[in-house]
Amino acid sequence: MVRKMGVYAVLAFCLFGLFFYWYLFYFADTKLPFEYEGSKADPATFLNGRELMLSEEYSKIRNLLFFLSTPFEWLFYFLLLLFGFSKAFKRWAESSSKYKFLQTAIYLIWLSFFAFLATFPLNYISYTLSKTYHISTQSFPSWMKDELIDFWLNYGTWLIIVPVLYWLMKKSSKRWWLYGWLLSIPFTLFMMFLQPVVIDPLYNDFYQLKNKELETKILAIAEKADIPAQHVFEVNMADKTNSLNAYVTGIGSNARIVLWDTTLNRLNDNQILFIMAHEMCHYVEKHIYFGIGGYLLLSLLGLYLTYRLMNWATKRWGKELKITDVADIRSLPLFFMILSMLMFAASPFTNFASRYQETRADKYAIEMTKNPEAAIASFQELSRSGLSQVNPPFLVKIFRYTHPSMLDRISKLEEYEIKLKNK
Ligand SMILES: [Zn+2]
Repeated sequence: MVRKMGVYAVLAFCLFGLFFYWYLFYFADTKLPFEYEGSKADPATFLNGRELMLSEEYSKIRNLLFFLSTPFEWLFYFLLLLFGFSKAFKRWAESSSKYKFLQTAIYLIWLSFFAFLATFPLNYISYTLSKTYHISTQSFPSWMKDELIDFWLNYGTWLIIVPVLYWLMKKSSKRWWLYGWLLSIPFTLFMMFLQPVVIDPLYNDFYQLKNKELETKILAIAEKADIPAQHVFEVNMADKTNSLNAYVTGIGSNARIVLWDTTLNRLNDNQILFIMAHEMCHYVEKHIYFGIGGYLLLSLLGLYLTYRLMNWATKRWGKELKITDVADIRSLPLFFMILSMLMFAASPFTNFASRYQETRADKYAIEMTKNPEAAIASFQELSRSGLSQVNPPFLVKIFRYTHPSMLDRISKLEEYEIKLKNK
């Protein structure tokens, strides 16, 4: 039975992958609808033939990697349970120490290590792909360093969460999801607070804007929106990537707007001011707090469903998955698998909410800067530097796009430009 279940799981993974291969490479039509041809959103008007070809090719492969790596994670956790790895990790942990906390720490290190090994090939392919297409400029040692920081950061976080989670499961087999959720609220807020000052600096350098002339202009529009100067940062990304970005992060006194130095290097001042105004909208309208609120609401539902699904799976397949009791740490891969599946299922909704915020930010930015030409040029450069698809396939948009497609964003700006001219 165990072997049969393993074969079925691998087959399901292959079918899932084949479906997306067919969908992305043969079925999906990413040609521009004819009414946009020749408009400023038409990539043929701002990319050369080579860039056009590369952006289609690169996006297709990237999207396929995304749709492979997500179910691969589910497959990995499933096989780990099925073939008794989780059980073995626990045995190794118990024979290494008699202290409960240390046992959990050892169990987790084995699980994390195997997960790292299993996901490494796909991560490495994704890194080399990005390098081949000249998006990433990161050296292998620097990339590896980031991977290791990821590893230890994840390990540390789970080392805080898992012992509490399994203690709650033992104490209350019916309500652990609710208590766990209640505890996750202060924990999430605390992590969001620490993110920009403790976690992000592990990866990159953050500092005040280097170009003082530009800084004056940026801080002048920031002041219009009541954003204090010490909340605007530049981050050194040029050693890692050619793509452009800016974002808002942190909460409370740690809230900040961060501009990648690549953005500052590659765009002219008016284009940068548009990007800055966009980020200011996120900051002023407190999109992060709405995001956290939405995330917490979803995680309540998610934890409840996880609780139901874990009980169901343990009852139905406990023997095959080698889980006798949900509250036994051996069930952790099942917890991760269900969580990851639920997050994937929820992503169309969270992406939709995020796209709504992004649309608002674009509108705010253009109304503040009133320079559609610069705004459009900045988006065109954003597409070129990241080789992003202007008109992504439907399923890619639904599952991956936290921002509206460039087609939507640029054509909205064009509409604004026409409105401005007719005034
Ligand atoms: Zn944004």
